[in-house]
Amino acid sequence: MILKDLATIPSAFRDRIEKVKQVNLRVINTSIIIQNPHIMLSSGKYSQEILFLGEVDPDTSIKIYCSCPSFNYEFAHILNDNECLLHSQRFKIAVRKTPQEKNQKNILTGCKHCITAAQFIQKKIDRFQKIYKEKLNDNINIR
Ligand SMILES: [Zn+2]
Repeated sequence: MILKDLATIPSAFRDRIEKVKQVNLRVINTSIIIQNPHIMLSSGKYSQEILFLGEVDPDTSIKIYCSCPSFNYEFAHILNDNECLLHSQRFKIAVRKTPQEKNQKNILTGCKHCITAAQFIQKKIDRFQKIYKEKLNDNINIR
């Protein structure tokens, strides 16, 4: 899954458009994990993480995490199947079987927090690209 795809609400979840709009996020931290940009966000009650498997770009593959129940029950399974789940060890039960009640169609997306996070990052992609360009340069200089 690439950032651009996560930022788009699948048609099966179009009834969640309003819920996605209501999510308020702030960036908690921007770091680099093994040369990969890692962004931590918070929606207040829950925390989100997006790891780029390459440069910060809408077309870059990502791995995601959210601490909310919806992420666990609806999306962890399909994300894990597609190697897009961060901290998969925290989802021992969810990754084992397809959700029986929610997201039975196993649509590859994230909870409202993750979708909002992707939209937020995509909207400010220039800013994040600048942040990581500097961070990665710093990393090289240290060595
Ligand atoms: Zn969430």
